[in-house]
Amino acid sequence: MKAIKNIHASTTDGLQRLREASQSGLALCFAGVGSAFARQNDPTSLIVAKDGVTLLVDMGTTIPRVLATHGIGIGEFDYYHFTHSHADHIGGLEELLLFSHYVLKKAPRIIASEEYKNILWNQSLRGGCEYRENGVFQFEDLAEIIMPEQTATSPRELFEVEIGGMRLILFRTVHIPTEGDNSGSKFWSTGLLIDGRVLFTADTRFDPLIFEHLSMDKVETIFHDCQLHEPNVVHASYSQLMTLDETLRSKIYLTHYGDAFQVFDPPADGFAGFAQPWVIYQ
Ligand SMILES: [Zn+2]
Ligand SMILES: [Zn+2]
Repeated sequence: MKAIKNIHASTTDGLQRLREASQSGLALCFAGVGSAFARQNDPTSLIVAKDGVTLLVDMGTTIPRVLATHGIGIGEFDYYHFTHSHADHIGGLEELLLFSHYVLKKAPRIIASEEYKNILWNQSLRGGCEYRENGVFQFEDLAEIIMPEQTATSPRELFEVEIGGMRLILFRTVHIPTEGDNSGSKFWSTGLLIDGRVLFTADTRFDPLIFEHLSMDKVETIFHDCQLHEPNVVHASYSQLMTLDETLRSKIYLTHYGDAFQVFDPPADGFAGFAQPWVIYQ
């Protein structure tokens, strides 16, 4: 998967260009590549397109504004998916629900397991979305929930769903570890395997077992969480990712990185590079 062209900030048809690029196969574009505390980049948010169908993965607080500067309305995606409930990933979700309901008069299609749907609604969204002018909303009043099928419980929970010709495998990750339990996490977080070819870890600690638990035969490109500074607590650090073997490293574009990126040279260290915002990968 190579970067093919930049969608410049002045572009007014960003999503259209991506849709066109996706006619010849999977096309990806990051609306943001930064960490939760980055100031030079917006929080990591990934647009996936195939055969003109679009999926937005995560929408942190500043992403609605960034999309707008690229001529994209938050309600324009065919599907949405949220990897976990930190604000740099779901900060724009309340706006998506309320704007879609009151202005666009439609319900966005959100891919979420039953368990995560309940976590999202009860722990994050109800505060701003539950009460309406005459009664209360349930999550299902504001969104069409697409539930993936659970296909494995161990050694790692997996969920699968097919949307618009894209086969998505959601895999549980260990982003916030649960004390005394290194095998999993009570905190809900997932990564994404797209068509068996592109792996997006979303936020995770360093967890090389991911590459054993998933079928990696066809994986060409990995977009991996990367924290540039030490110590690493809830993310994979650059130095930890350096310990992966050469073949794996050569497929990895680093995402979710902080502002110190200029002093790093990922290609010199065997990585594919830093993922760049508003570049189409095809
Ligand atoms: Zn994050
Ligand atoms: Zn996070």
